[in-house]
Amino acid sequence: MQNHITGLHHLTAIATDAQANIDFYAGLLGLRLVKKTVNFDDPSAYHLYYGDGLGTPGSIITFFYWPGARRGQVGAGQITAITLSAPANSLDYWRERLPRHDVTTERRTRFGEDVLAFSDPDGIPIEIVAVAHDDRRGWTGAGIPAEFALRGMHTAELTVGDSGPTVDLLTGLMGYSLVRREGNRARFAAAPGGSGHYVDVIGGTKSLRGTGGAGTIHHIAFRVADDAAEREMLERLMQGGYHVSDVRDRDYFRSIYYRERGGILFEIATDVPGFAVDESVESLGTALKLPKQFESARPQIERALPPLQGARPFA
Ligand code: ZN
Repeated sequence: MQNHITGLHHLTAIATDAQANIDFYAGLLGLRLVKKTVNFDDPSAYHLYYGDGLGTPGSIITFFYWPGARRGQVGAGQITAITLSAPANSLDYWRERLPRHDVTTERRTRFGEDVLAFSDPDGIPIEIVAVAHDDRRGWTGAGIPAEFALRGMHTAELTVGDSGPTVDLLTGLMGYSLVRREGNRARFAAAPGGSGHYVDVIGGTKSLRGTGGAGTIHHIAFRVADDAAEREMLERLMQGGYHVSDVRDRDYFRSIYYRERGGILFEIATDVPGFAVDESVESLGTALKLPKQFESARPQIERALPPLQGARPFA
């Protein structure tokens, strides 16, 4: 059976305030806002994408905004952290920068790597992991020097009650292999391995079941090269007894969705066509982009959306 999944594509989380979110992710963490669009199912709300300079799959973190939404509870049946890869000697920089802007950090060690843990303005857990071997280059356009810039997702942390069915799916139909284990956490990798290709499964914990809402991660997307690979994964998952959505056109990638047996929503997204399909690489994220079906309603949509400034500058 050929392995079509080549790593992580993006994750999507739920926030309350788009401007506070831009200030934090683009201003403080220095990610590039690579796409400003609306929720394709609800064009009265923004959908913002952050990533590296090109919006490379694996670097993408996206948010839906539900102002005034009920806060969710981070817990089992969810992706329970955003983990970001940083250069090996950069943690002192982040440990100094974040508290200077009122973000409380905590240092941890995991799988021999130094980790800096904190939360975003909606309470979503974030970890910056010092990674020695990762050739990806972070975005420096927001003023973070290259030697400290965040490169993209490191791993996806899946927390489930019973890890058995989740691990069976990953190592069976999805082609992941076990890398190592530490306590109740096991790390798996998609070929070719390394940062951005990992999934961590935390199972057998007494952690409370999560509930969706603001301050939680909604789903994780895995990447495949193209539509043919996605079609094969769709067939394979259906034969494996999963209920899989039909292929949805997300303009920047095409996606299928299914729920794994630990309760987490999985997506498989294509690398093609990418974020430069409707604006140049230089101008990524600067203009409001709408899918074709909403273009004729642009004036009303623009009027209804709250105004957004660029990221507040952080010294
Ligand atoms: Zn998605």
